[in-house]
Amino acid sequence: MKIIFLGVGEAFDENLPNNSQLVMSGKINLLLDCGFTVPQQIWKYSQDKNLLDAIYISHQHGDHFCGLPALLVRMWEEGRKKYLTIICQKNFKEKFKEFMDFVYFGFMDKFDYKINLIEAREGEKMEFQGLNLFFEKTNHSAENLAIKVNDGKNIFCYSGDGSPKEKSEFYKNTDLAILETYLYDVNKIGHSSVIGATKFVQKNNIKCLALTHLNRDLRRNELTVLKDKIKNNKVKIIIPEPFEEYNF
Ligand SMILES: [Zn+2]
Repeated sequence: MKIIFLGVGEAFDENLPNNSQLVMSGKINLLLDCGFTVPQQIWKYSQDKNLLDAIYISHQHGDHFCGLPALLVRMWEEGRKKYLTIICQKNFKEKFKEFMDFVYFGFMDKFDYKINLIEAREGEKMEFQGLNLFFEKTNHSAENLAIKVNDGKNIFCYSGDGSPKEKSEFYKNTDLAILETYLYDVNKIGHSSVIGATKFVQKNNIKCLALTHLNRDLRRNELTVLKDKIKNNKVKIIIPEPFEEYNF
């Protein structure tokens, strides 16, 4: 399994695209979240209209799903015929067509490819094209579902937005946790801190922690200091750059 960090920024970072990862399992390519600045990252990475098999949307905040219309319309423009799956929560599934029509009225009716929306539910396992997927709520201002991906060899989690629930066992013993973090040591409501995430991965025996979604001022002004602070930790911690890859 390979993960490409397409975007690692918070919602309103002037330098970094929104938090989004491309998961390449060897069988399928799954995009995790598609905020308003993500389509350009995907097109820079690959111009293959059939690159993606599925897209996961963690929650209904614009920096996690507002890139979808542009991404999907370009796929149609370039002649995509291949089926596409979108995994999302119930409310998003119900509002999806309305949302697409609000942005590009009538375009979806012309698509030559089918979009299948599958509902993700907390606590339910989803078997999807050789992957086992699991979902758990986080503490966030919108209802957000973290996703856990198991390909039979490795397991990783992506939090979407929000800190893990207290006493969560969801992330335990995984190979990689991509955790949304915002400030260094202050737990802003609805977000993890670097210190909080670090303690969490140590307690949960996680092999590697990837910090994404750092506050734009912190990331712009204090990245070197931050990297220095995390380098001698018991758990491997990375602060990935856009297009950086993580291979299992
Ligand atoms: Zn959010």
